[in-house]
Order: sequence, then structure tokens, then C-alpha cells
Amino acid sequence: MNIQEEVSKRKTFAIISHPDAGKTTLTEKLLLYGNLIRSAGTVKGKKSGKFATSDWMEIEKQRGISVTSSVMNFPYRGYQINILDTPGHEDFSEDTYRTLTAVDSVVMIIDSTKGIEAQTIKLFKVCRMRGIPIFTFINKLDREGKETLALLEEIEEVLDIETCPLNWPIGMGKRFLGVYDRNNEQLVKFNGNEEETYIPKDELSEEIANNPTYIEAMDEFALVEEAGAQFSLEDVLSGKQTPVFFGSALAPFGVQTFFDHFIDMAPAPGGRKTTEGVVSPDAPDFSGFIFKIQANMNPAHRDRVAFLRVCSGKFERGMDVRLARTNKHMKLAQTQQFVASSRDTVEEAYAGDIIGIYDPNVYRIGDTLLTGKDKFEYDELPQFPPELFKKVMAKNAMKSKQFKKGIEQLVQEGAIQLFKQYRTESYILGAVGELQYEVFQYRMKNEYHVDVLFETIGERIPRWLNPDEKVDASLYDERNMLVTDREEQPLVLFKNDFSLNWFKDKHPDIELIDLFEVN
Ligand code: GDP
Repeated sequence: MNIQEEVSKRKTFAIISHPDAGKTTLTEKLLLYGNLIRSAGTVKGKKSGKFATSDWMEIEKQRGISVTSSVMNFPYRGYQINILDTPGHEDFSEDTYRTLTAVDSVVMIIDSTKGIEAQTIKLFKVCRMRGIPIFTFINKLDREGKETLALLEEIEEVLDIETCPLNWPIGMGKRFLGVYDRNNEQLVKFNGNEEETYIPKDELSEEIANNPTYIEAMDEFALVEEAGAQFSLEDVLSGKQTPVFFGSALAPFGVQTFFDHFIDMAPAPGGRKTTEGVVSPDAPDFSGFIFKIQANMNPAHRDRVAFLRVCSGKFERGMDVRLARTNKHMKLAQTQQFVASSRDTVEEAYAGDIIGIYDPNVYRIGDTLLTGKDKFEYDELPQFPPELFKKVMAKNAMKSKQFKKGIEQLVQEGAIQLFKQYRTESYILGAVGELQYEVFQYRMKNEYHVDVLFETIGERIPRWLNPDEKVDASLYDERNMLVTDREEQPLVLFKNDFSLNWFKDKHPDIELIDLFEVN
């Protein structure tokens, strides 16, 4: 098979949701379709205790959670499916955001009983800023949830994206009859624990056709068909419209239909931007970028694994590649592919695939690896706005040299973000999840032999100032703390929405930049 054929078979995506919306349950069902696992309930160690996809890290073992995103792949209908996990719960970190730079599309799960929740919004914003196509699965229809129209309105309003339901739920909870499949003009009937059945619209029994739940739902759907957005694959692929499906991951109901539609619509890997223009996925020379580095928390095993997204050409185990940043050559002999059950050695890979490469402490997040004569680097990974802030200091002031060295390295690795308070120059660490502090503290102790102390600042809303404007330090205090980032750029950490809005009203001339809006 040639490179182009291989690339066209790849579907690389992530599932985003708020904790408890049903990501694990849905992923398990997808793995079942891929015949990768025989029984559901085996995706995360957390739930089943059977195995965790990545179990190298000490904290991970202690807590039984997967600290950093893992990857699962399996063949389905002739495609090669790569699912990248985006950890939520306590293990939410910048890695979760970075993982989204390595996918070609995203499945967004929404709990029909809750609607849009905080973590969904954050992850959605990252997809939006990357222009990633988003496919929506509204879950838990077997329970009493929000009204269908209200849910769609919520998505449109909160996330500012057009919705186009490709199926329509008939009732919910105890009255849940199934979904009406728009494309195939049929009812997909919910039969509780039994398999779903498919009944063409004009072959429905009188009992169903006259059921008030059915009539009401179809009346509503008629309105949506008439007044709602028309399906446009182009708009879906550019991230303007999201196709919406309804179902129950647990039952499972509507999952396979959703997945089949998704696979048909989701894009294969496309060209990616580099310093020398767009590189096509079927270009003959191998290239890729590192989006995550997983350090081993066990001091006896200092090995690290770098996660690389292949972007062009063909990867072969043992091949000689160049690290674009340093122009040094290296052999990629120790590589792993990530499958839910094990880490197999990968022999070859194509654009869209994710491989794990042994990292003898030379790689950085965002690094480009390549072969061939051309010189280029993939676009830098964006800086994501942290929301938690803590002052940090060494417990023992005598250790300040190691302290600085440790921070410098861990920050460079992308484990956490460093800021300095204006004037006092105190070190402030910014993170998107609490876990980042735990990992930081653990690694400072184990790798740099420094005990660190934190002083909580709390949740803050960071807004960068225009670097060209002169900063008037007298405008800032505890509620709108002035700090600088690693590039010495000034930003303000607002205590809450209120202080942000108050400041905006008072100083309309000061430009405040939200990183989620730029990048
Ligand atoms: P995650 O945190 O997003 O991975 O969510 P899980 O997949 O672990 O699901 C959270 C809880 O919701 C679990 O108790 C699931 O059994 C339950 N759940 C998931 N999908 C459904 C569904 O379709 N219907 C119902 N009733 N419960 C569900």
C-alpha cells in the first residue's frame, strides 16, 4: 500500500467531555466494536482494576489513575482508528490540552441531564482555536434530562457553534423510544438491554406512530428540519457546525450508528503548517512533532517517553532521523505503539499515528523530527492559559541553585508554567490542574533533591497586556496581580470575573488578551 492510501485510512481523534459524562463508557464500546477488548469495563485501571493503559508513574500507581494521556488504536471497517485520551478528573493538566494539537477531529460528549459543563467549555475552546472539527454525542438519553431543543440552544449559545442534529431523540428516560435517523429516515428503536432495531418511517406500527411521545418529538423535529441549519460537511470540517447525535453509551444505544457516521465524516490527516509552509501527509519524507513527554516518576528508572504524532511519510523502526531544533541525528529504535491492553513495538507508522519514543532527555515538547533534505519545524505548540496559581519557594534557602535549575527544566519540559510577580520577583507557578503541582513537587524532590513549599494564590483569570504598551504598575494590586511570563511579557491575574469586568470598565483603553482567543 502506498503512503497516500495508508493516510486516507487514518482517523485520529480525541473524546472531550466533563468528568462523568460517559467518556470511559463510550470509549469502551468503541473498543468493543474494534474487537480490542472482549468485555467492557477495562479501559481504565481506575474503574476495573484490571490494567491501566500507562502505568509507569509512581503517582499513577498510587492513585490508580492515568496521569498523562494515552493512546488507543484499532482497525475498524478498514480504517485505522487512533483515539487519544484526554484525562479529566484530578488528572486534568496541560497535557490534556496539548493532546488536542495531535488530533484531526474531536468527539464531544454531553450529559443530557447536565448540559454543557465547565471542562467541556475549556476543551472546546482549544478545539475552536485549532479549527478542529467537532462531532457531538449527547449521552444518557435513558435518563430524564434536559429538553432536546434546550440542549441544542445551549450548545449554540455557550459554545457559539451551529448545531445540526443528524438524529432526533424520541422521548427520554422511561419514555425513551429511540432516535429518528434523519439520513436513513428510520426509527432506531431502543429496546432496553436488547439490541436496537431499525424500522423505516413508513413501516412503523400504529402503536408507535400514535404514541404521543413519538408525535411530539417528530413535530419538534419537523420544526428543526425546516428552521434549523442545513447539514454542511464543509462547515463541519472547518469547525463552524457540529453534527449532533443522541444515545446512551451505557445501554449501548445509538453508539455504533454514531460511530459509523462519525467515521464517514471525520477527516483523514491533512497537511500541517511548518516554518516552510504546509507539509502534506503523503510527502515521501518522514516527519512528526512531539506533543507530550512523560517522565518516569520512579527514580530507579529515569527513562522518559516522548509522544510523537507522525505528520508525513513513513516511519520505520530503527530509522535515522534529525531533531530539527539541534540538527542532531538519532536512531529511533525503541518505539512503542499504544494499544489499550499493551504497549507493542511499532514497526511502521504513517501520518495520524502516534508513537512513543524513548527519550534520553533530549526532546522538548513541540520538537520536530524529520528525515530528508528539507529543513522545517512544525508550528510551535500554543501556550495555554493556566487558571490555578501558587507561589513556590524552596524549603531550604540554601538549595536555591538546584531549585532554580529544577524549575527551569521542568518548565521547559512543559510540566508547569512559570511567572514572576512584578517587582518582588517571587516565583509563581501556573497550572490548569492540581495534579501538575503534585508532579512538580514530586519531581523536584526526586530529581533535584529540593523540597518545595507552595503558597496558594488560587484560581485566577489571566489576561495578557499588549507588549507594546507601557505598563503602569500602580493600577495593579492583589485582586489584579501584575506578573510576567517566561518571555517577560506582562499579564494580569484577575481574581474573578467581577474584578476583570470592573477593570475593563475602568480602563477601557487597556487591551486585555485572552490566550484562548488568539493562538
Ligand atoms: P467519564 O468520567 O466521562 O469517563 O464517565 P464514565 O464513562 O465513567 O461514566 C460516568 C457514570 O455515568 C458511570 O456511572 C456510567 O455508568 C454512567 N453512564 C455513562 N453513560 C451512561 C448512559 O448512557 N446512561 C446512564 N444512565 N448512565 C451512564
